[in-house]
Amino acid sequence: MTNPAPLDFERSEARDRKRRQWIGFGALVLLVVMLAALVASTMNQARIRNSAEAQHVLTQDMLLVSSKLQLSIHAAGRAVRGYMITNEARSLLPFVRERNEGRALVEKLGSLAGNNADRRAQVAAIGMELDSIYVMGDRLVEMQQNGAREVAIERLRSGRTEQRMASILGRIDALAQAEIDEQRLHADAASAADRRQEILTYSLAALALVFLGIAGMIGVGAARAHVRAVALSARLHYMASHDELTGLLNRRSFFAALQRERDLSARTGRSLAVAIVDIDLFKRINDSHGHRAGDIVLTHVATLLTDTLRSHDLVGRIGGEEFAVLMPHTEISAARTICERLRRIIARSTVPLPSGVEATITISTGIATFENDEDRDSLMGRADHALYAAKSGGRNQVRLAA
Ligand code: GH3
Ligand code: MG
Ligand code: MG
Repeated sequence: MTNPAPLDFERSEARDRKRRQWIGFGALVLLVVMLAALVASTMNQARIRNSAEAQHVLTQDMLLVSSKLQLSIHAAGRAVRGYMITNEARSLLPFVRERNEGRALVEKLGSLAGNNADRRAQVAAIGMELDSIYVMGDRLVEMQQNGAREVAIERLRSGRTEQRMASILGRIDALAQAEIDEQRLHADAASAADRRQEILTYSLAALALVFLGIAGMIGVGAARAHVRAVALSARLHYMASHDELTGLLNRRSFFAALQRERDLSARTGRSLAVAIVDIDLFKRINDSHGHRAGDIVLTHVATLLTDTLRSHDLVGRIGGEEFAVLMPHTEISAARTICERLRRIIARSTVPLPSGVEATITISTGIATFENDEDRDSLMGRADHALYAAKSGGRNQVRLAA
């Protein structure tokens, strides 16, 4: 495995975490800004749309009142002409009525113009011109009543009244047109706001997708980081508790396990056996084939130990070429059988060394079982004594502690 050293790992992990935090923070800020822009734009759009709708209603009213006014002016003109022709007083009634109507309509136009200075000026001009037309009508009627009918008809035909009529009708048209133009401006602004809103909404949706993607990436990154951290922690734990060369428990964790098993046996009274296994004349292998060959022999013995022992037995490397076996629930005779089998298997095996030599090795074993509430060190000391007896007894043998 080529994992980075823990410190490097932590540093790069912290860098990654920082980068993920910045990306997430940036995306969030962007999203909030876009949301704020969308809210502002929605409010603006509603305002523009409301004012466009109000303008629409106003324009419709203006057009309606304007055309009523134009009709009324025509009707008033017709009434005066009718009176001139018929000379009947009752023909004048429509003129009087239309004059009142016309003034009322101009007033209405004035109120529709509201605060619009241009429009107010236009309406005022229309009002003044209308008044002068009514005065003209009054004069013609007066002339007729005073017997100057011919002069009045001559005036009527002169075209001045027609000009006046055409002028005021034109003014009213201009007023209506100005309102229509105004409405168009509002409608254009409203549709521009709609387009802006649409673009903003799509952008926000796209950004939300990007944000989701980033959030997903950050989530995946964090999950991966977590997996890496868990793996690293497991690896560190393994490294701290296992021997690097053989993969067996190291001395510290073997003794910790032994302490646990010893305490359990002290509490429950169940049997517990410990064996110390030492390779015979191991120094010679190192001396004649080199340190590397020694390491190969150590790995070979470790493999045979784990392969031969039962799954609930624990094996540790407690010294250079010294191993220890912890056998819970095991009486001395069973422990002896197991260790004898181990001794035979190792003695029969051969270890291919880099030099081409097939080395044979033997082991000496000392066994002790937990007795009389003794402590861990006493138990191991007795096993060690038994091992010493095996060595001095000629090696390649199993000895039981006294
Ligand atoms: P005995 O039968 O009395 O146990 O003899 P021995 O040679 O096995 O014992 P001794 O204690 O004299 O030598 C142990 C040797 O183990 C000495 C040391 O150099 C070697 N050794 C210790 N740890 C390692 C290791 O990790 N790798 C290798 N190759 N050799 C090691
Ligand atoms: Mg030895
Ligand atoms: Mg030794």
